[in-house]
Amino acid sequence: MKILVLNSGSSSVKYQVLDMEGEQVLARGIVERIGLAGSRLKHRKGDRELVVEEEIKNHSGAIELILKYLTHPEHGAIKNPEEIDAVGHRVVHGGEKFSGSVLITDEVIESIRECIPLAPLHNPANLAGILAAREKLPGKPMVAVFDTAFHQTMPPHSYMYALPYDLYRERKIRRYGFHGTSHRYVSQRAASLLGTSKEKLKIITAHLGNGASMCAVLGGKSVDTTMGYTPLEGLYMGTRCGDLDPAVPLAIQNQMKLTPPEVDHLLNKRSGMLGVSGISSDMRDLEEAAEKGNQRATLALKMYAYKVKKYIGAYAAAMGGLDVLVFTAGIGENSPLIREWSCEGLEFMGIEIDTEKNREMVRGREGIISKGKVKVMVIPTNEELVIARDTAEIVSSL
Ligand code: ADP
Repeated sequence: MKILVLNSGSSSVKYQVLDMEGEQVLARGIVERIGLAGSRLKHRKGDRELVVEEEIKNHSGAIELILKYLTHPEHGAIKNPEEIDAVGHRVVHGGEKFSGSVLITDEVIESIRECIPLAPLHNPANLAGILAAREKLPGKPMVAVFDTAFHQTMPPHSYMYALPYDLYRERKIRRYGFHGTSHRYVSQRAASLLGTSKEKLKIITAHLGNGASMCAVLGGKSVDTTMGYTPLEGLYMGTRCGDLDPAVPLAIQNQMKLTPPEVDHLLNKRSGMLGVSGISSDMRDLEEAAEKGNQRATLALKMYAYKVKKYIGAYAAAMGGLDVLVFTAGIGENSPLIREWSCEGLEFMGIEIDTEKNREMVRGREGIISKGKVKVMVIPTNEELVIARDTAEIVSSL
């Protein structure tokens, strides 16, 4: 079975075609700058990358170009679009409606549309991708895999905000959590690498990428996660502030006479590692600057690791113990420094990093980096594989 996985953003579409026999990626790529000057497709098959600069007006044009190169006589991975058995779509917000992946029907599309107020930037783009794929691949079964779904097992005492209850009842203001596909994948992968059933484990997963979140996974189910109503809550990130006294945005707004969208921009785009360091939102740049003695870069790194550490403690408490701690995504997979600092001083709870193993675990490597009671692991995330697996499973049962 061959599955096309699509991750549609407002101006980009990432794609992969997987052959589910052996779970092999046949080709992958990204269409960037949709509807903007300089739009292009970057397509990769094996080691060969191709860049095609072409005017791409909308998502429909993007999918058409993707299909053109997937079936290209030289660069393609399939002979014709008919070879694609099904399409899996990443969808950011499924609200309270979706606690798992689903076959896309007109009703599901309507429900994704109803979730737009919860994810005004992401869901419209995800929908545009779904509608374009339906137009270009008519009749193909399609599946939606939601970022929020894995966290729908959180109990109310974990997802409610202490706000007037009507805000939840009438406006669905509560914590949802994101990166669910990644937290689900790495927690299951950890259990399988350890040869233990996930039902028996207390796992904390730390997805540390440009966006970052942590999750408490008890018996295979998410019971708490750091992101909330939006991906702004929790850890602090490349350009997002993370947890904050809610009085701060109000003070900024009043004192600087900013409009709500300007405050939103400040908290989402000008804060985080970029805001603190004044240098960059990229962890590599900060590590380099800190090594050269830049004080604010060092502060940014220390704040970052401290926040991760605080949530390790919080989630171990929430679950009544800890068996496994998993680091994943760009920073989690590649920064021994952040992993070491995040775990520093946690020997009292059985977390002890093996410095040598930690240093070696980079660039796609997978394994254990601890020598204490708690297994600390690095596991490269693979959201596309989860989307493809869910799609194959749902489509097979039709
Ligand atoms: P996204 O959320 O966009 O998918 P990624 O998971 O690719 O992001 O993570 C991007 C982050 O990973 C950036 O902050 C980048 O600096 C960091 N990163 C990538 N490689 C390294 C490395 N070798 N050392 C430290 N940080 C790294």
